[in-house]
Amino acid sequence: MTVEARTLKNEAIRNTLKATREKHSLMRPIVIELKLDLKCLNKEERHALEMYFVEGKWLKNYLLALPDEEFRSFDTRTRDIYSFDKDKNKVPRHLELPAKLIQSVYQRIKQDMKSLAAKRKKTGKKNGKLKFVSDYTTFDLNQYDNTHWICYGSDGDKNGRYKNTIHIAGIKRPIRTFGMEQIPAGSEPANAKLIRKPSGIYVHLTCYLPATSPVVSEDEKDDVDRLLEAIGTDLGIKTTITTSDGRKYDISIRETECLKGLQRKLARQIKGSKGWHATRELIRREYEKITNRRKDKANKVFHDIAEGQEVLVIQDDNIQGWQKGRFGKQVQNSCLGTLKSKFKADPRTVVISRWFPSTAVCPICGHKHEGMTLGVGEFVCPVCGYTEERDTKGAITTLLAGEIEYYSTHTGRMRTPVELTSDFQCFYEAWKQSALKPEAPSSSGIISQ
Ligand SMILES: [Zn+2]
Repeated sequence: MTVEARTLKNEAIRNTLKATREKHSLMRPIVIELKLDLKCLNKEERHALEMYFVEGKWLKNYLLALPDEEFRSFDTRTRDIYSFDKDKNKVPRHLELPAKLIQSVYQRIKQDMKSLAAKRKKTGKKNGKLKFVSDYTTFDLNQYDNTHWICYGSDGDKNGRYKNTIHIAGIKRPIRTFGMEQIPAGSEPANAKLIRKPSGIYVHLTCYLPATSPVVSEDEKDDVDRLLEAIGTDLGIKTTITTSDGRKYDISIRETECLKGLQRKLARQIKGSKGWHATRELIRREYEKITNRRKDKANKVFHDIAEGQEVLVIQDDNIQGWQKGRFGKQVQNSCLGTLKSKFKADPRTVVISRWFPSTAVCPICGHKHEGMTLGVGEFVCPVCGYTEERDTKGAITTLLAGEIEYYSTHTGRMRTPVELTSDFQCFYEAWKQSALKPEAPSSSGIISQ
């Protein structure tokens, strides 16, 4: 290809990319997990796919070991590389990886280096460099129709074959997948990730949905008296969460007996032996199961709480702090973190500062009850006599604070509910003013919640 032709081609690629990006910016992306059914491949094809991840590891480690200059001028058409065995001897390796995947490994390392450098610049600290890996588990499939493409729905190809299959670059036959039914009709499949997990090989496919902007009718805008349907949640330190209407959800996911047994077994085995590796693989599988269970529970609880609500209020509790501190095990064995990120990703959510003493303040009179230490199970207001179970009250207080926040940003829908003109609002506004001063939030916030 002449220089001119190449310039033209690059220009064309850039333009298409730009057009796609613009189109996608107006759409809503979702990611769908598909599991590959490796049984439909023959032995060679299965081996080839497994080898992608081994070759990925070789390539990444090879690239990391290159001097800067050579790394920058690395030609992605290179097929012959070398790796080191455990005695530091060079072992020549030949790559069968498709060119696109080699590029993706290279690009990924470049990106990681860039973000490391950016972080270094921001924090001013030396934050190490990229490490050699013992596993390579994720490939970017970044060009739909080239690195991968799917046949979904009941159509298949023109002969009606290959229903619910995916093509992966370098593997001739389409691969049957599980989970295609999750792809919504009318969505546009785009880039993906090829991921190796202990339980098999997966594709995380990004699909773009046409963005449907919620249309607010004129009637609704005028309806200023409309009741706010909201729910506040108190993400407790225990393994339950409580909503303002008194519902409680157990969100604990315990380690299984099986996992404990495997860990004991691993401790007995000789490190690096065949049996040790086998047990470690089983432990990874078990962890994957637990993670899936955690995700599942978070989905169900979130759906149950959030469905039909107009506003969700949560308190931004310091989960990382807990993990380091005294509640470590309880937080680790629950889906609290997953659940919280689900709330935060929802546009309806109002987040209240973690320093707000939601446990201590009376939602009726705004009195701050200093006697609410961790052991106290019931809130009894010493001023107005309001009595409520501890966590439910925490959620109610959080909800009221959230409503104040909500109305302060949604002035178009202003309504002055009785409870918002109350002493509680006075307390909240005063607290917010004092919290803006730097000395106000103290580390005792964890206890007073
Ligand atoms: Zn009170």
